[in-house]
Amino acid sequence: MLDLEQNGDDWIDWARHCPSPNQDARPEDCIIDLLVIHNISLPPGEFGGPWIDALFSNQLPAAAHPFFAEIATLQVSSHLLIRRDGELVQYVPLQRRAWHAGVSCFDGRERCNDFSIGIELEGTDQTPYSDPQYTSLARASREIMQHYPAITPERIAGHADIAPERKSDPGPAFDWSRYRRMLDQ
Ligand SMILES: [Zn+2]
Repeated sequence: MLDLEQNGDDWIDWARHCPSPNQDARPEDCIIDLLVIHNISLPPGEFGGPWIDALFSNQLPAAAHPFFAEIATLQVSSHLLIRRDGELVQYVPLQRRAWHAGVSCFDGRERCNDFSIGIELEGTDQTPYSDPQYTSLARASREIMQHYPAITPERIAGHADIAPERKSDPGPAFDWSRYRRMLDQ
């Protein structure tokens, strides 16, 4: 369940908490009414390392991999990450604005970071996501939708849907119909 007692900013109690500095306040009176599904893997296509935590903490070592040199200075985050084994990691309180979507537009409205919650799945566009990932994603999504009822099933989108010219995640490997069925269970 969402834990409102910790500080009122909404941390999920079954997540590992790894606070990111890459966050700020949402616009005043903002209604959170969009959930965005992403994928990430660092290095690309490799799973299980410490690098996603490091990236979202601005501590990615640029020298450790050629790709890291390209992205080490980015200031990015997501509210949540679901690892391959289903572990849920939370970087940003849900009430705060995480920096996950970039230039984006949903239903005619730009700057989706303002009004969305971002969930990263550890994976790639082409690698089937794991069963524990679907289980954790569905559980987290259900809890978020209970707490933020403006997030209806129609207001769950992929990063590719809100930034189609720049982004392709979560990619064809993500089984939307399976996920949407699990939301009802
Ligand atoms: Zn993305």
